[in-house]
Amino acid sequence: MITLVRRVTAACVLGAALTACAAAPHPVPRVARPAPSATSAPPTLAPGPGGLTPVFKNGSRTHGRSVALTFDADMTADQGARAAAGEHFDNPGLIAALRELKVPATVFMTGRWAEEYPDQARSLGRDPLFEVANHSYSHYAFTDDCYGLPTVSGDRMRADVERAYAAFRRVGVPDARPYFRFPGGCYDRRALRALTPAGVTAVQWDVVSGDAFATDAEAVSRQVLEGVRPGSVVVMHCTRSAAPTTERVVRTVVPALRARGFRFVRVSELIGS
Ligand SMILES: [Zn+2]
Repeated sequence: MITLVRRVTAACVLGAALTACAAAPHPVPRVARPAPSATSAPPTLAPGPGGLTPVFKNGSRTHGRSVALTFDADMTADQGARAAAGEHFDNPGLIAALRELKVPATVFMTGRWAEEYPDQARSLGRDPLFEVANHSYSHYAFTDDCYGLPTVSGDRMRADVERAYAAFRRVGVPDARPYFRFPGGCYDRRALRALTPAGVTAVQWDVVSGDAFATDAEAVSRQVLEGVRPGSVVVMHCTRSAAPTTERVVRTVVPALRARGFRFVRVSELIGS
């Protein structure tokens, strides 16, 4: 089904990395499928101009007070030795807190993380509270300059994304979503073009929690609470090693946002509404 959802230009959906936004002359319809049931395809955005991978940043500001908490399960392809030495790239306490508080959430998982923690990946993938989406296989950057991350070459980008989906299937995640989060959030036109055949919607965010390498849970919580608006997508992390405060942050911001009338949803619900 094709529905006229919102008067946005496809170019504007592509976000700040592209400069065509202000110049785009005509509003164009966005394609969305109905809200997901167990068997229907998850909603996606229509491709951008020239068939570029579409980019989603936040949901409607006027369709009620919904907010999507998203958690990146980062693990770089070369971090296996550190995991073997005892470094924790997972965060079971955070996942337990989300379950206890009944917070639907979207986990952007790297393929490497799924391989390191197959039981947790499978458990997340089979729990209807969560949806698993793609954060690349290797957590290498898709642009040349992205927070010092190693880079994936243009001709390997699509394969890196598909390698992550293959890893998810192998560990027993049955229906990972066609949503992709660029490592570091770094993308450009070349990356969007390279991923067009993968059929994914790129998912950015409008609220940076600041949980990466943070030690002050209160400061992170404050930043989330000050940033969230209706339709917001909040980026956080699901790795004790690099984001040790996230569970405490969740336990603070969830009741506070509910008290302000917010309802937690998965990204698919924001895209589809
Ligand atoms: Zn990441």
